[in-house]
Amino acid sequence: MYIDSHAHLSSEELFPEASELLERARSSGVEAIVNICTDKLTLQRGFILKDAHSEIFLAASSTPHDGGEEANLFFGEVEKAAKAKKLVAIGETGLDYYYEHVSKEEQKKHLIKYFHLAKEVSLPIIFHCREAFADLFTFAEEEYPQGPALLHCFTGTVEEAKKVLDLGWYISFSGIITFKKSEALREVVQYVPLDRMMIETDAPYLAPSSKRGKVNEPSFIVETAEMIAKIKQTPLDLVAKHTKENAINFFMKDLR
Ligand SMILES: [Zn+2]
Repeated sequence: MYIDSHAHLSSEELFPEASELLERARSSGVEAIVNICTDKLTLQRGFILKDAHSEIFLAASSTPHDGGEEANLFFGEVEKAAKAKKLVAIGETGLDYYYEHVSKEEQKKHLIKYFHLAKEVSLPIIFHCREAFADLFTFAEEEYPQGPALLHCFTGTVEEAKKVLDLGWYISFSGIITFKKSEALREVVQYVPLDRMMIETDAPYLAPSSKRGKVNEPSFIVETAEMIAKIKQTPLDLVAKHTKENAINFFMKDLR
């Protein structure tokens, strides 16, 4: 019924209780989860989870918050995993000028390397982008014009969403859309058509409104889907159907 397009199941918070939380996810109708691996340890744990649970798929890259030697070395691991066909996407890579833990120049360097890898191995990209849309669009148009890509945990404006859609990318919404203060973001949800949208938890972060303060997990995705149904005044089934189909077309079309 649902596909969680973005969760960090290899994290310290979720990995130890993966079996239990996957059981809860299944009972809530979550059929597949894309587990985002961002370093050597989380990728190793990702392989363990993927081997044990058929509903888990892996994506990997360093994040815009990672730099230095570790991020350089991890690129080689991602390349190896991609070439061994163990990944369904490259990501989350991108730009984060809000935190800017790593210099803009270095973020760009990693992003461009991942553009080239994605092209080489024919995998789609998952983008993380915060306060950096102008540069992301510019670099992508130069180095990755053909896509395909997914903008995860979208928190931008309607104009930015329009540009993302014009580029042919998908947009994924997280539990942030359920927060009281997210009025503007709910207008973006209204704007983005169901056939270009995915849903995600970004677990263990960003638990939806009714679970605020708790460790987020894939079973909580239902609240986000319900909010989309409410905003668009459309049946929940239809939200589930479209977001699932989009995720399958994006991540899993080679696996069908
Ligand atoms: Zn994430």
